[in-house]
Amino acid sequence: MSVIVFVDNKNGALVKSSLEAVNYAANIAAAKSVECIAVSCGNLSNEALQVAGNYGAIKVISNNTENADNSQIATLVSNLVEANSASIIVFSHDFSGKAIAPRVAAKLDAAIVSGVVELPNFDAGFTVKKAVFSGKAFANYKVNTDKAVLSLLPNSLDVTITDNVAEVITDNSDLGVSKLVIKEFKKKGGEGVIDLNEAELVVSAGRGLKGPENWGMVEDLASILGAATACSRPVADIGWRPHHEHVGQTGVAISPNLYVAIGISGAIQHLAGVNRSKVIVVVNKDPEAPFFKAADYGIVGDAFEVVPKLLAAARALN
Ligand SMILES: Cc1cc2nc3c(=O)[nH]c(=O)nc-3n(C[C@H](O)[C@H](O)[C@H](O)COP(=O)(O)OP(=O)(O)OC[C@H]3O[C@@H](n4cnc5c(N)ncnc54)[C@H](O)[C@@H]3O)c2cc1C
Repeated sequence: MSVIVFVDNKNGALVKSSLEAVNYAANIAAAKSVECIAVSCGNLSNEALQVAGNYGAIKVISNNTENADNSQIATLVSNLVEANSASIIVFSHDFSGKAIAPRVAAKLDAAIVSGVVELPNFDAGFTVKKAVFSGKAFANYKVNTDKAVLSLLPNSLDVTITDNVAEVITDNSDLGVSKLVIKEFKKKGGEGVIDLNEAELVVSAGRGLKGPENWGMVEDLASILGAATACSRPVADIGWRPHHEHVGQTGVAISPNLYVAIGISGAIQHLAGVNRSKVIVVVNKDPEAPFFKAADYGIVGDAFEVVPKLLAAARALN
């Protein structure tokens, strides 16, 4: 018996959201007194794979097929679920998890609960909590199938890290022909830019900045903090900032440790994408701006006066 968790990789390392999923899967495995097994697809070093052990995986089964598509990875995970008698399969509810988890559920005829935010409760069967209505509410789902696929909303739970190292086992199975081939991979914004989806810190700005020529101070603040930059939707729509920076209901949903919102009103559609941030700092000249209700720290003031002061303070700390 086991709990299986899929671990995605980027630039030769396991990604943060996957490692959170490993910790989640390991906690479920501990509750059920079974093993937590991570499954990886891609050409990673043993050292990179062993990191899954720090987060609670006993072993990592690694298939080194490079650039496998979502269907091939779903085949790999499903086969290993059967081979290791797993009844719970965990993904991160991130870009790849959203694509692979439903395929695995369909292959295994399993229930799927996506965007879970708590460990399952096994007291009376199997129930698990997930976020609904763009994070405005929660629902408890009861699982009625023998196998269940769960995808964990990134940044929902605290993570415990140990010195344990996972045993790496190679899987040589043939995943078949890829239905989709990536011909070119170009990073938006160029090298050195922090990926918004993975960012721990985000500095974001909205229409209150008046024009694209004023983003220098936002970029400077982000750079000095080691943060990614983001924006509200109208800012991307008018072309002041690229669309991949737009956060919210119709943009990227993020959950960083710190979200700094400058000159953004805090409309419900914006909050839907950022309200899972651990700490929210709002800079707005209107004390009635709705964003202040969601803020942990609020500065009522003109961005053109406040942000240079924040910058000076951040520089003084560096
Ligand atoms: C179906 C639908 C989906 C949507 N999806 C999204 C989404 O995903 N993401 C999103 O962001 N929006 C989305 N929107 C739009 C959303 O409703 C808001 O219109 C938008 O978020 C407002 O952007 P903003 O706060 O930058 O601009 P504004 O609403 O114009 O607010 C600007 C703010 O800046 C403040 N300000 C002005 N000058 C200064 C200054 N000098 N210093 C400090 N503060 C200043 C103002 O007080 C104001 O609060 C969606 C709308 C719809 C209908």
